[in-house]
Amino acid sequence: MPAAARLLVVEDEAKLAANLKRGLGEAGFAVDLAPSAEAARQSLARNGYDLMLLDLRLPGQDGIEFLAELRAAGAVLPVLILTARDSTDELVRGLDTGGDDYLTKPFAFNELLARVRALLRRRRAAGQAVLEAGDIAIDTARRAATRSGRALDLSPKELMVLEFLVRHAGLAVTRDMIGEAVWGADYNALSNIVEVFINRLRQKIELVNQPPSQPPLIVTVRGAGYMLRVELPANDGKAKGLN
Ligand code: CA
Repeated sequence: MPAAARLLVVEDEAKLAANLKRGLGEAGFAVDLAPSAEAARQSLARNGYDLMLLDLRLPGQDGIEFLAELRAAGAVLPVLILTARDSTDELVRGLDTGGDDYLTKPFAFNELLARVRALLRRRRAAGQAVLEAGDIAIDTARRAATRSGRALDLSPKELMVLEFLVRHAGLAVTRDMIGEAVWGADYNALSNIVEVFINRLRQKIELVNQPPSQPPLIVTVRGAGYMLRVELPANDGKAKGLN
């Protein structure tokens, strides 16, 4: 199973949301919570997710309207709908609007887990498995990364940091963006954990770059954060002063 898949749980019942976060976290997923469509929209703008769990009855914009808006904007993110047992109409509308599967409340956690895993498998089967930027490739189904075809020996969290950089290749991303994407709500902005992981990642990435003929792949952008370089500098002897 994809041990490090990222899930967004959109649920306004705080106790249920907390239970889902804990259970899914223990099952090996990175989980972020959003108590409203508005909060979910902000999370989706910041991070890449593999799956969204969506309660249909939310304060403010309801789940079906939110889902309709996402699908209209072209979002292909798999969505598992959570709905009340007495609302068949709501459920049918949810599936018509672009939900991929559903569960009625109350549900057994094991069943939720089975459906989450099935949706993630279906997504991988649909061929969205390999992310590439420059000479880095990440097989998101096998949770493995290579540089120029050479395997990188990365821990799950290191792979998640690299995946975030690859998804934002060529763009400067802040430490907090990386921290929140990889550690979710557990991220402490005052810690130096992102720097520690970036440094380890740099070492491992440069280790397979032998002889080191190219400038480092992960550059520090002063005042901003980090960026995964996607283009080699022009061959004029002047590297850009980003590092
Ligand atoms: Ca609700």
